[in-house]
Amino acid sequence: MQLASIGSGSKGNGTLLRTRSACVLIDCGFSLKETERRLATRGLSGKDLTAILVTHEHGDHIGGVGVLSRRFKLPVYMSHGTHLSGRCEDVYQRVCFDAGDAFRINDLNIQSVLVPHDARQPCQYVVEHQGLKVGILTDLGSVTPHVVECYGGCDHLLLEFNHDLELLRVGPYPPALKRRVGGALGHLNNQQAADLLKQVDHEGLRSVLIAHISEQNNTREHIEAALLTHLGEAFSKHRYMSQSDGYQWVQLEPATGLPQHQRAAGA
Ligand SMILES: [Zn+2]
Ligand SMILES: [Zn+2]
Repeated sequence: MQLASIGSGSKGNGTLLRTRSACVLIDCGFSLKETERRLATRGLSGKDLTAILVTHEHGDHIGGVGVLSRRFKLPVYMSHGTHLSGRCEDVYQRVCFDAGDAFRINDLNIQSVLVPHDARQPCQYVVEHQGLKVGILTDLGSVTPHVVECYGGCDHLLLEFNHDLELLRVGPYPPALKRRVGGALGHLNNQQAADLLKQVDHEGLRSVLIAHISEQNNTREHIEAALLTHLGEAFSKHRYMSQSDGYQWVQLEPATGLPQHQRAAGA
């Protein structure tokens, strides 16, 4: 399985997962023109997509879903709650599920996971393909036992490191927005994200893809410091998904079969 990001952050998101027989886009927060431009930089056109999966109805995740789905006749998977929000209506074809349901798209097994976030029925995804387990986890304000359980045993994890608590506190956001972002239904701060990595079963975790980074309230240095403080050198293998460029294709390998010492080093 391969993963690429066409952009990650509060101005727009989109994550691609590709196998031999499926290519899904998780969220699309960009205009049609911008999405096509960003897909092209990953060697794709909208015609190459199999489906769009939506996590929740915030604009940075659904802004471009309707128009992309109509333009390329793509089915859009979303929770009933996301549908009921009325903000993701105008799609070519809708496939609704309850957050927590599992479903299949060609050779991808997809588990939806309900997360605490200020949307109607926000869910994130764990995707399995031929024994490889990849977690996609952004837009959650707190870590629940359910989240820890569902994301255990991943080979690769795309995880939100949204903000540094202190930078958010002293930063330019108005007080209400600071409360929202930092609240239990907002976004994960660096400390919470690093702590989540510690809590989940991370024995086979080979890489962490750091996502949904706030441009105003975070820096890579703060993220590095949080990782080091909470996890030591164990998670040295991580990559940063950016707002402007996302991330080019990454070949996701399973941990299975690797000698233990290579696993521990996150090789
Ligand atoms: Zn978001
Ligand atoms: Zn959101």
